[in-house]
Amino acid sequence: MKAVRVHEVGGPDVLRYEDIPVPIPGPGQALVKIEAIGLNFIDCYFRAGLYKVPLPFTPGNEGAGTVTAVAPDVTVIKVGDRVSYAPIIGSYAEYQVVAADRLVPVPASVDFRTAAAVTLQGMTAQYLACSTYPLKPGDTCLIHAGAGGVGQLLIQVAKMRGARVFATVSTKEKAALARQAGADEVILYSEQDFEAEVMRLTGGKGVNVVYDSVAKTTFDKSLNCLGLRGMLALFGQSSGPVPPLEVSRLAKNSLFLTRPGLGQYTATREKLLQRAADVFGWIQAGKLKVRISQTLSLKDASEAHRLLEGRKTTGKVLLVPG
Ligand code: NDP
Repeated sequence: MKAVRVHEVGGPDVLRYEDIPVPIPGPGQALVKIEAIGLNFIDCYFRAGLYKVPLPFTPGNEGAGTVTAVAPDVTVIKVGDRVSYAPIIGSYAEYQVVAADRLVPVPASVDFRTAAAVTLQGMTAQYLACSTYPLKPGDTCLIHAGAGGVGQLLIQVAKMRGARVFATVSTKEKAALARQAGADEVILYSEQDFEAEVMRLTGGKGVNVVYDSVAKTTFDKSLNCLGLRGMLALFGQSSGPVPPLEVSRLAKNSLFLTRPGLGQYTATREKLLQRAADVFGWIQAGKLKVRISQTLSLKDASEAHRLLEGRKTTGKVLLVPG
């Protein structure tokens, strides 16, 4: 089968399109024929070596397709089932073996491309807005990179929960997309001081929660945007990691700081299925819209990484095998 492989970590050019054998499912595993692959920023962290795995490896953390084989001990899923999964590394390929209990059934009315577009980023938006800081009507939140993959979904989920949503973006085109997703106020953090804007818009009170996935260039001001007992959910680092923090900085407003990850929020099969069911339910009810902005061939994975890291993408980018 064809797969993208990383033999040494580095820039987008280290992604090589190669032939490797189709894997065979071991105990507890299923083989999935992949129809669509979700591109995620975490793929760049692995490729660059920021997150470490033994070399060589197949990158990619999200896929959707059909189960074509299962190990004899597998009972939770069967051959022919339509499934998606995330975050499980190895999806930049035509086939992948996945622990069967990490597979999520995809409803018949949801196509594979949509499933590959919302499994990772949709469940992330779900856990951030419903569990990490469970938004309630009247809350205010700030979402950075509001036109991004997670960003557009998180804005929609935050609005569903009744929050007033501020979003940051770098360009006017992205501002229009964040507004379309439902953001009440959009701040161009490339031109405006987002801390000053948030303080102005909240009458000096600050927000209840900042969902910050940009990190290095936003972290300091994100902390300053928080009101009394506010929470900073630092869930990514698109601009680079944050430097060490003097914990006493949290004392100013009795703040909470958390560094959440999807893996921990879907640690049990029950939680995985519950979060996925919420996401697919919202899609089926027309409450959550997913915007697939680009679809590239799997062999063009390097180009996809260049676009994502170059801030040239909006919404979701997919890779398709074949
Ligand atoms: P996005 O589609 O949001 O792309 C990243 C965006 O970040 C860019 O489009 C850009 O938007 C913004 N950005 C700001 N500064 C930079 C920079 N220096 N370089 C590149 N981009 C920058 O990606 P994803 O939706 O895939 O992921 C968003 C973030 O969420 C990532 O940090 C990812 O790691 C994290 N994440 C975390 C999860 C978790 O469970 N912890 C799960 C899923 C994602 P703009 O131009 O508007 O600034």
